[in-house]
Amino acid sequence: MLSEHQRLDFLYRLTNALQQADSSIPIVLQTTLHSSARVLNAQDGCVVTFHQDDRPGEIFALRAGTRTDNREAWREFVQRGLIGYVQFAQRIIIARDITTDPRWQTSSLPDLPQTGSAVGIPLSKGGQMYGVMLFMHKEIDAFDDTTVHLLEAVSNLVSALVGNALVFNISPRDETRFQWLFEGAVVPIIVTDLDGYIVDANRKAAEFLDYRREQLLRLPITAIHRMGTGPIGNNRFNSLKSGDEVEFRTAAWRSDGTDIPVLVRAQRVFLNDHDVIAWVEQDITTQLELDQLRQDLTAMVYHDLRGPLHTVYGSLTSLGRFLSNHNQPIVLDLLQVGLRSTRQLSRMIESLLDIQRLEAGKAILDPKPTSMHNLLASAAQLIQPLATEGNQRLTFELNDELPFVEVDADMILRVVTNLMENALKYSPPGGFIRLGARLMDDSVQVSVVDSGPGIPTHMQRQIFDKFSRVKYTDVPKGIGLGLAFCRLAVEAHGGQIWVESEPGKGSSFVFTLPVTKTSEPVMVA
Ligand code: ADP
Repeated sequence: MLSEHQRLDFLYRLTNALQQADSSIPIVLQTTLHSSARVLNAQDGCVVTFHQDDRPGEIFALRAGTRTDNREAWREFVQRGLIGYVQFAQRIIIARDITTDPRWQTSSLPDLPQTGSAVGIPLSKGGQMYGVMLFMHKEIDAFDDTTVHLLEAVSNLVSALVGNALVFNISPRDETRFQWLFEGAVVPIIVTDLDGYIVDANRKAAEFLDYRREQLLRLPITAIHRMGTGPIGNNRFNSLKSGDEVEFRTAAWRSDGTDIPVLVRAQRVFLNDHDVIAWVEQDITTQLELDQLRQDLTAMVYHDLRGPLHTVYGSLTSLGRFLSNHNQPIVLDLLQVGLRSTRQLSRMIESLLDIQRLEAGKAILDPKPTSMHNLLASAAQLIQPLATEGNQRLTFELNDELPFVEVDADMILRVVTNLMENALKYSPPGGFIRLGARLMDDSVQVSVVDSGPGIPTHMQRQIFDKFSRVKYTDVPKGIGLGLAFCRLAVEAHGGQIWVESEPGKGSSFVFTLPVTKTSEPVMVA
């Protein structure tokens, strides 16, 4: 029996405690459950919330004695016990002796108490019932009228705080809203379990993939689209399981064997008491067509710029020859400026065209067994005049036994000249550059060493990306396309490229090319 004073004191303290809960539903319900159990001397208890269709939702259980969590037992009990009666009758029900009370049938649920008394209280807001709170005491007849008054007050307090959220927002509405969004969505959505087996798919998904919805159920998601090869697929699954949002492009296979390019966005969500993965599949056919069109157009523009530029270059060279004896040096100087800029523009356009081709995966046009020795000698020949012009010394360190490699010779020649031009460009007048090559186990390794400013460690990877440059003072500026081209070209040949450098101590650009079994070593005199 509680005195009026105990009742008011308890309600006062509960109100204060609930105010700290900041309207968090789990905290409000747990706090209420524990505080009420303490004041009622109840050993067991739970709060069950209900969905709009009366199915049980969340269950909060008291941690009684050594049992840490008996939620599963309570869930069973909702179907056939006192909770169901309270839900049906929508009023407080007291079971004075649970051993004889027909509403307390726990013989098959040994985790729940078998003797004593119990009380069930409905939780409702605005006439809508959203849950039941239940307590049990190990003695018979432990709950009386004062208990009923107290629990009514508790029920009102809880409903004032979280009733609206539970009735209008959380379980029922969320699900209907989800169902509506899911079914009515204009994009295909597939829901799988955490192992990737389809448990649901919306109308649009069935339509898009040309399946009947039932046919999709239980198929693995990998029957619909690739997850990526090998470890990438597994990594994606692992990321999804750990709660990350995952996005990737792939092709979705339709039932008739055709495929459609898609952008897949997937995330783990909690739905109807289950952890699942929702996959949104966006058809990107039009987007890819537009991308292709844009690429073709730019390629065409770059390509068409080459013609007139060659003409300008040719005219300037002829004019230079024609005026070579001109007695006004300023004229020749101006011509040199024009020629340098034209060469630079031409290299830029070539790089842009190459980058575009390589990025599109088209890459190697003309792979042929090529003598690395001859290729490097040609590069040196092309670069020598520039070195002489800048009063820079060009030296060689070429291994005698360089193999033939299966490459697009023109492309690799451009890689070497690009690196050598950079070495000259960034080295001071009077500096040196050294071209080296040696045969490693199953690759040939080429290096271009210079006496330039060196490259800070944090930029050593970045400079191989498009438009990335180191900001030096007193050093010529570039636009940052040459090394991007070198990386794409070397990687397209199955090799690697990197730089070894210390600021102030020059740089060594190194790249490798795999030597295929058919490539034969040649002796060089
Ligand atoms: P660009 O030379 O036209 O800027 P690159 O892609 O060839 O384009 O080079 C990117 C950047 O890397 C350059 O802007 C420069 O900052 C740095 N870099 C390249 N080669 C060297 C080098 N040999 N020594 C020092 N810095 C270099």
